[in-house]
Amino acid sequence: MDSGPVVRTWAAPAKINLALHVTGRRPDGYHLIESLAVFTRFGDRVEIAPADSDEFSVSGRYAPDVPLDGGNLVLKARDALRQAAGIRSTPPVSIRLEKNLPVASGMGGGSSDAAAVLRGLGESWGLDIDSAELARIGLSLGADVPMCLAAKPLVARGIGEELSVVPDFSALGLVLVNPGTPVSTAEIFAALSHRDNEPLPPLPRRIDFHSLRNWLEVTRNDLEPAAVAMQPAIGRALSWLDKAGSGFSRMSGSGATCFGLFETGNVAKRAAAEIRARQPDWFVAATRSMASEAE
Ligand code: ATP
Repeated sequence: MDSGPVVRTWAAPAKINLALHVTGRRPDGYHLIESLAVFTRFGDRVEIAPADSDEFSVSGRYAPDVPLDGGNLVLKARDALRQAAGIRSTPPVSIRLEKNLPVASGMGGGSSDAAAVLRGLGESWGLDIDSAELARIGLSLGADVPMCLAAKPLVARGIGEELSVVPDFSALGLVLVNPGTPVSTAEIFAALSHRDNEPLPPLPRRIDFHSLRNWLEVTRNDLEPAAVAMQPAIGRALSWLDKAGSGFSRMSGSGATCFGLFETGNVAKRAAAEIRARQPDWFVAATRSMASEAE
């Protein structure tokens, strides 16, 4: 009996910058950052199947906001990997993207989609490309793609491509809230008044809810003041998280998504339901971050 083409699904988690310090600027204009980032169970999904010719389709709540043409990072990732494969065989594939993450929202959705495609096609095509080479291809697509390929708690430095995975990092209960205002990363960086801020302080030896909350109190997202000034709804998202009982609330990346840190998954779910009831048009998701070791 024909069981049909083999369809496999790859997770494209949301990237959450728990802290993001802007520490300088390179002569070419790229900003230097230090960021502690985690990746969540909630995210986009990428489905890959063999096909007669290359195909691409998008479903999900935020499908209308992404380009369907060559501007989509999914197709850029497919084409970059095919080019890197050289004479190795890279037969046509059908790629379906389930777009659950709001676009231009500070959660690295496009970068994570690209990472899922690189990982997924690397396996589907049996390319045997090592992780350093995959990260190099990823970096050519965007500064955040290498960290999305790692998808573990990590500190990113440089322009985001120098990665140190953080061990002993427990899963966290998180609520993600986006008030629906897309934010241009370039505009936020351009609006910064200081670009030579203090680096991140040393991390606690073991990271759980309590040690992380103490550490977060002495760190920053240096992009948050400029983003809140441009989009006051971000300030409202942060106050809703606080009102719903978040242990710590901050904006991720260049916004507008904000995260709240919760001690347990159940408390996070209750808080998300409360915010959703008050702001039915906002994006609100309760999720858990991935721990450094499988839990
Ligand atoms: P970051 O935190 O890295 O700045 P972001 O979450 O703010 O990322 P993305 O959602 O990755 O931003 O989108 C940034 C831009 O990339 C948008 O202008 C969008 O049109 C384009 N884009 C291309 N492909 C995708 C994709 N697959 N998903 C989302 N956006 C995409």
